[in-house]
Amino acid sequence: MKQEKLPETGVPEQELMAELDRIKESDLDWKRGRSFSLIYNAGEELMRVGNEAYGKFILENGLSPMAFPSLLKMETEVVSMVAGILGGDENVVGSMTSGGTESIFMATKTARDRARKIKPGICAPEIITSTTTHPAFDKSAHYLGLSIIHVPVGDDYRADVEGIKNAITENTIMMVGSAMTYPHGMVDPIEELAAAAAEKDIWFHVDSCLGGLILPFVKKLGYPVPDFDFSVPGVTSMSADLHKYGFTPKGASTVLYRNSGYRYFQYFAFADFPGGVYGTSTVSGARTGGPIAGAWTVLRYVGENGYLELARKAMDTTKKLIAGVRAIDGLDVIGEPHATVFSMKSDTINVYALSDELHKRGWMIEKQHLPPSLHVTVSPFHENVADEFLAELAEAVDAVRDVDASNVSQEAAMYGMMATMEDRSLAKELAVEYLNDLYKLK
Ligand SMILES: *Cc1c(COP(=O)(O)O)cnc(C)c1O
Repeated sequence: MKQEKLPETGVPEQELMAELDRIKESDLDWKRGRSFSLIYNAGEELMRVGNEAYGKFILENGLSPMAFPSLLKMETEVVSMVAGILGGDENVVGSMTSGGTESIFMATKTARDRARKIKPGICAPEIITSTTTHPAFDKSAHYLGLSIIHVPVGDDYRADVEGIKNAITENTIMMVGSAMTYPHGMVDPIEELAAAAAEKDIWFHVDSCLGGLILPFVKKLGYPVPDFDFSVPGVTSMSADLHKYGFTPKGASTVLYRNSGYRYFQYFAFADFPGGVYGTSTVSGARTGGPIAGAWTVLRYVGENGYLELARKAMDTTKKLIAGVRAIDGLDVIGEPHATVFSMKSDTINVYALSDELHKRGWMIEKQHLPPSLHVTVSPFHENVADEFLAELAEAVDAVRDVDASNVSQEAAMYGMMATMEDRSLAKELAVEYLNDLYKLK
């Protein structure tokens, strides 16, 4: 195996900067709007403002709010603004985290620790959710020693309320709904799920990592979005990412609780450390102030009217794309998505081959499975490329009409195979092997 050595003498700055630019060239070229995942693009101006604010606090340390009251002020104000966007009153509290995964981890841990206190008889705590819920819950359950049950979604690709109700047992400590789901862009029936949870005194979390900063504005524009936030009785906690549709620099998310009585169980303190009494609100110890300052600045720079305008652009573009996809012979959209995320499927063509074909043309469309589909997250910036994309999509569909499953890329073939493997633990092992192989020096 290879090993990279620390250079004996330092490399000159200019040389390093040039090298950074060079290695960056092989990255996803998202700035032209040709990617439909990973990046949420609202144009250069917001990136500049976010970057500048981020840069001012990149070296500061959020571990000590006493030393950096600026970060404490900005974090509490960001949390309060997001609570307001999500129908919360002044009792709603929360924390900023590094991302959706950490927000979900904190909510899950908090629900677990509260259950330990108020339902001490439960020895094998479990979470009930849907097949389309984000894997961050599986990851959290794995880390926290909880079991998790995924109830299949209904024909409309939304959570199956009856199925979930039937899955509740005396060990259930948490139920989860999504607004919206990552794979298909659906808002689960949150009101019904929250009512079912409240009836049994079970913690109910709404994952709006994806939808939290777009659905409220889409709803205000008059689109039919089901209620999904703190305005719904029975919603205990929510997660909402700022670095997605908040268009803030990465490393910024929020986890929110209906009141501080719930959040109490999130905190960690250790009083016996010789280095001082140690207490943190989230997983992180030392944390950069960059994302906090970036989020605080971008939220205030854009404002309510700005987010409404960005939501309008993204919705208009989504409507155009969905109509355009449905007009292509052989291609369809899964279900009736509620906002700016959807997925493409086909009964006649191999969508993985279609993804490869689009990739050749410079478009990046992620593959999904169970069922096979292609993921589309629409940003406001995509309004500039929607027509071009639809024209090239139609050409790409024609190009792969006769491609059979044996004639696709290795990745596409793997996707096709993974979904059909009977033994899911083997599928999981393959994925871990893949990571093992990926993270080595080349
Ligand atoms: C992105 C996402 C997450 C996880 O967020 P990260 O910021 O990637 O950690 C969780 N839930 C949903 C629905 C998401 O789209």
